[in-house]
Parts: sequence; structure tokens; C-alpha cells
Amino acid sequence: MKPDLFESPDYYNLDDLLSEEHKLVRDAARSWVKRAVSPIIEDYAQRAEFPNEIIAGLAEIGAFGPYIPEEYGGAGLDQISYGLIMQEIERGDSGVRSTASVQSSLVMYPIFAYGTEEQRKRFLPDLASGKKMGCFGLTEPDHGSNPGGMVTRFADKGDHYLLNGAKLWISNSPFADLAVVWAKNEEGRIHGLIVERGMEGFSTPETHNKWSLRASATGELIFDNVKVPKENLLPGKNGLGAPLGCLDSARYGIAWGAIGAAMDCYDTALRYAKERSQFGKPIASFQLQQKKLAEMITEITKAQLLAFRLGQLKNEGRATTAQISMAKRNNVDMALKIAREARQVLGGMGITGEYSIMRHMMNLESVITYEGTHDIHLLITGADITGISAFK
Ligand SMILES: Cc1cc2nc3c(=O)[nH]c(=O)nc-3n(C[C@H](O)[C@H](O)[C@H](O)COP(=O)(O)OP(=O)(O)OC[C@H]3O[C@@H](n4cnc5c(N)ncnc54)[C@H](O)[C@@H]3O)c2cc1C
Repeated sequence: MKPDLFESPDYYNLDDLLSEEHKLVRDAARSWVKRAVSPIIEDYAQRAEFPNEIIAGLAEIGAFGPYIPEEYGGAGLDQISYGLIMQEIERGDSGVRSTASVQSSLVMYPIFAYGTEEQRKRFLPDLASGKKMGCFGLTEPDHGSNPGGMVTRFADKGDHYLLNGAKLWISNSPFADLAVVWAKNEEGRIHGLIVERGMEGFSTPETHNKWSLRASATGELIFDNVKVPKENLLPGKNGLGAPLGCLDSARYGIAWGAIGAAMDCYDTALRYAKERSQFGKPIASFQLQQKKLAEMITEITKAQLLAFRLGQLKNEGRATTAQISMAKRNNVDMALKIAREARQVLGGMGITGEYSIMRHMMNLESVITYEGTHDIHLLITGADITGISAFK
């Protein structure tokens, strides 16, 4: 792969709106990605393997639990810092950002928000340091966009719960030490349970043959009469709103992360267009190529402003689920379109692993589908503005 020459576009001087802490956190993540992710990521993606060697570095830049309080091992940062970290990591690779998002917002967040003090102390510091890795089991083979239909169930057996069922498409599952699993009790109410590797009847087969998020491990969670200790139930919140609350936090991070992938594609295409000559002139001098590049920077700038304002609302505790849906949907769609256009600017070179664009493009096909599909987020906006749900 070519050396990482990334220069971040900031067309509307967004840096002026960031605090010194935001910039420090962002720059630390940026230089770590250049140093530790860019040189190795293409090779891992080609081999369809998760780079275990970057776990310690992710923990060091605060990517595991950026907004979880320091007393539990988190970085104690605000939501804009969290977003900036996700942006920088996804600039490197969406699969690496997925690992960080799952660990932070889908594993640490529910333990922090819905767990007991004992559960927080027992699990959060090891998750923050990367000593333990987690995954989040909501999606099932027959229930994706409609997680409320889930059939994974647990029964109260007096001194323990007995868990049965299966989850599909679970990021980090093949290597996770623990899983936050959403299952129905005997009354049909959804609860979160912490299932730990080594519990009898619990297995995590890997899903192979993905053309997308190849540097992220994806798999199943299978529960065959797993005895889960009663102290592993998350007591703080139940019902579908509990997992959806985690998704709000992860989707917010994705809204920022997708900007990173788009910035990388734009930056690569701009540099290439200025260096590559055809018909005796740089291809950047042709109007058709300028149109592509000008539209890319316009869309990136709009997405940056959307994410920044959402971050302010999130810091104030005012960001709604529907506002988060809008930003996730818009920014991922924007990034995918930019990846496709940027790929064309590079001509034939764009399809090779010499450049990051094709990898970003393939990754974004998952990002536009997971954490609520592009269609479902549109319907969430539709329901919010009309008061009528068109999808359930
Ligand atoms: C790489 C990857 C990693 C993932 N990681 C995780 C994870 O860590 N944990 C986890 O729990 N899940 C994870 N997922 C699952 C992901 O969240 C689901 O794939 C997603 O929610 C969509 O579900 P589905 O694939 O079953 O598609 P379906 O729900 O079957 O949808 C198929 C199509 O139908 C459309 N559709 C569905 N319902 C409606 C409707 N009412 N109106 C209009 N259109 C509709 C959808 O928009 C979509 O286009 C991951 C997925 C991928 C690909």
C-alpha cells in the first residue's frame, strides 16, 4: 500500500469550533492511525483477519469507552471527542472503527448505564484497557430490522438463568471474551445478559466470505442451554428501549466515523488527480474531475457540520433518536457515494489495494446496513415528522 500522506480537509474551518482538548484527542488518534493502522490494514483486509496487534493502541488513544468516566477506566471525554476519535479510526478502516464502536457503545455503555455498581467495577476497567474484548448480540437469523421479534429466550431456574437461541452478524464475536446478549424472559420482556466465554453451551463460530469489513471479525453467538449466573443480568433497563439506547450511542459514533472514510477517499482522489496526467494535463484540470472533487468537499463539509451540531446536542443530553438516525443515514450515504466517485477518479488504480478507496467502499456497504439500514433510518425520520410509523 502507498505511504499514508493524508491531510484532513477542513473547508469551513471547523477546527475553530473545537476545544484544545478536542484537537489533542483528535490529533493523537490521527497520528496513531498513520503509525499503527495504515501500514498494516490493507494486508489484514486482504487476508480477512482482524489485527489483534492494534488492541493496545486503540485502548491508549481512548477508543474503548471515550465517554465512560475515568473511575471505571474510561477516558472521561465529551461526545465531540468521542466522535472525533471514531472519525480518525474510520479514516483508517471502518472495520477497526466497528471494533471500537462495539466495545464502547454496545458493551461498555450498557454495562455502565444499565449495570450494577458491582458489574461496572468487574467488567469496565478490563474492557477500557483492551484486556477483555466484548460483543453485542441483538440481530438474529430471522430478526434483523425487527429485533423486537427475537426468539432467543431465557428461563429462571432458581439459582441461574437458562439461555437458548442464536444471534447472527455479531462483530467481534469470534474473539470476544464476553457478549452483551439481548433475550426475552418467560413473559416475553427483553433483558440484557452478560454471557462469558467458557460458559458451557456457548459458542461463537466465525462468518467467512465477507467482501466488506474484512479486517473486522464477524460471527454468530449460539446458546445451547447456557447457564448464566443471576448476577450477570443487567437490571437497570429492560424492553426494546434498552438495546436501542445502546444503538443511539453507536450510531452517533458512526455518523462521525463515516466522515473519516469520506475524507480519506477525497484526500486520495484530490492528490491523485493533481499528480496524474492524461492528454498532457493533470486530470484535476478537467471539468468533469473538478465537479466530482468539488461535490465531495461540499458533502464532507455538510456532514462535518451535521455531526458537530449533533455532538453539541448529545453533550447537552438533547440529541433525539431521530436526529441521530438522520446523521447516521446522511453521513454514511455521503461517504459511500464519495468512495464510488473517488474510485473512478483513480481509474484502474482505484480498484487495487495500493490505495484505500476500494476497501473503504466495500466496508461502507456494511456500515450503510448495520445499526439500522439506510431505509429504516429514513422511515424513522418519516415517523418522527409525521407521527405515523411506516415500518411497524
Ligand atoms: C458486517 C456486519 C456486522 C454487524 N454487526 C452486528 C453486531 O455486532 N450486533 C448485532 O446485533 N447486529 C450486527 N449486524 C446486523 C445488522 O444490524 C443487520 O444486518 C441489520 O439490522 C439489517 O438486518 P438484516 O440484515 O436481517 O436485514 P433485513 O432486516 O432482512 O432487511 C433487508 C432489507 O429489507 C429492508 N426492510 C426491512 N424492514 C423494512 C420495512 N419495515 N420497511 C422497508 N424496508 C424494510 C431493509 O432496509 C433492508 O434493505 C451486523 C451486520 C453486518 C453486515
